Amino acid sequence: MQILQSFVSGRWINGSGAAQTLVNPATEEPLAGASSEGIDLAAALEHARNVGGPALRELSFAARGAILQGMADALQDARDELLALGIANGGNTRSDAKFDIDGAIATLLAYAELGSALGAGKFLADGEGIQLGRSPRFHGQHVAVPRHGVAVHINAFNFPAWGFAEKAAAALLAGMPVLSKPATATAMVAYRAMQVIAQAKVVPEGALALLVGAPRDLPALLGAQDVLAFTGSGETGERIRALPNVIRHSVRVNVEADSLNAAVLGPGIEARSDMYELFLKDVLRDVTQKAGQKCTAIRRILVPQELFAAVKEDLIEMLGAIKVGDPADAETRMGPLASEAQLKDVFSGIERLEAESLRIAGKPGRLSEKGFFVSPALFEIAGEGKAVHEREVFGPVASLLSYTDNPAAIVARGNGGLVCSLYSEDAAWLEQSVMALAPWHGRIFLGHPKIELSPGPGTVLPQLVHGGPGRAGGGEELGGRRALSFYLQRVALEGSRPVIAGLTKGSSS
Ligand code: NAP
Repeated sequence: MQILQSFVSGRWINGSGAAQTLVNPATEEPLAGASSEGIDLAAALEHARNVGGPALRELSFAARGAILQGMADALQDARDELLALGIANGGNTRSDAKFDIDGAIATLLAYAELGSALGAGKFLADGEGIQLGRSPRFHGQHVAVPRHGVAVHINAFNFPAWGFAEKAAAALLAGMPVLSKPATATAMVAYRAMQVIAQAKVVPEGALALLVGAPRDLPALLGAQDVLAFTGSGETGERIRALPNVIRHSVRVNVEADSLNAAVLGPGIEARSDMYELFLKDVLRDVTQKAGQKCTAIRRILVPQELFAAVKEDLIEMLGAIKVGDPADAETRMGPLASEAQLKDVFSGIERLEAESLRIAGKPGRLSEKGFFVSPALFEIAGEGKAVHEREVFGPVASLLSYTDNPAAIVARGNGGLVCSLYSEDAAWLEQSVMALAPWHGRIFLGHPKIELSPGPGTVLPQLVHGGPGRAGGGEELGGRRALSFYLQRVALEGSRPVIAGLTKGSSS
């Protein structure tokens, strides 16, 4: 069995002690082992801070962008191999694996392009200079400079390539070294991605490290110049935020956690209209893509009361036609859940929903003795529901709710989400809904049948922010150059205009 190593302090290192076993979730066959025991985490962080950080800060944005281009090229060259690993270790269909790997490459390329556009500067001028007194000599200028610490990235199991790349792209472009920790269960893709990047020798020494296996006390070792970007469950996010060192040193923490994303079909839509069909298509894709293990997947489907019966009938039929099975088989539309732990978690979520609602689609229980297969499930919520707004079921599970006049109030019961999608052409209804829902979300997706090739609400684009308030963790990633600010310290320079002009010569704006 392959043993995954960590790449820290500039070299590949084996963990000691008992390794955690990574399996193929379709067959439960063991594939690899991973352990972080015995690895000197403090030394790994010091190496990143002292070797990787200075090397990156010496480089211009354009040169850092070229690093990202090199990383994207390395992943592109290994694309087929990475797709195969996503299928084997992630339970991804080929299309699901492409979503992860191609998403990683596209995000790196988007930030490579941003680096090239930011050009020769090494830090950012933030806005225009300001005259502060009667004399034009008394001047102020905000700038944003790379922090001198290390960016620790703790990722979730569902996007081992994209999760790694979207965080690393922003940090490296900003000028901070990265230590990335993939979720252990599906770490094979991130491990291989790191191998091919290291072999390509495109990243300066110390600027990019990978820790496989348990996180141990990694977050507890961070200090005032470090940052931690975490994606995973709300509970782990809470634990990290409550760490004494995080509180004492004001360690910057970004959390991307649970989200009960909703899709709302607007009032007055005709069944079978283009808008109605688009809504169904987006819901079906989101419930089944990656077996519903997407932070942006639609969990709550809200339809006007008069269309409830039609939508219910259509979704039951569409979900019933989804072929669940071996993700390596080209005919399969949905693979297994990623791990046994996820299977248990999904079953307990289904129990919570069953206690208050009726299952209207999908077979209960495991679909086979081996492998973590479940059917896509749809629940009909009578009234407004309770559990359905409290905790997401991270699998191919969604709930159908009807509304009469105020869907936004129902959506807001999710207490903060990553994305809400609205399907309507009624400008007044859209305005009212966006104003009511925007404070609760990181992104509002406005579905329209005339947009060609829209990837739907479940796809996170590098140009737009990803994150959300409340339950979603209160974090924000991506959003073009907005992503850099997490890794930069904004500082106000106050003094003589010519002196400040001299100091900011090396900035990009
Ligand atoms: P998790 O247990 O919180 O794990 C997420 C990551 O945190 C993994 O890398 C895990 O490492 C690590 N971790 C676990 N305990 C830790 C600790 N005490 N300190 C530091 N790191 C720790 O979450 P999960 O159950 O794997 O993920 C599923 C949940 O994440 C879903 O239910 C979903 O709600 C959420 N999610 C959110 C997003 C988003 O973008 N908002 C994306 C995907 C998933 P090990 O794997 O080594 O344990």
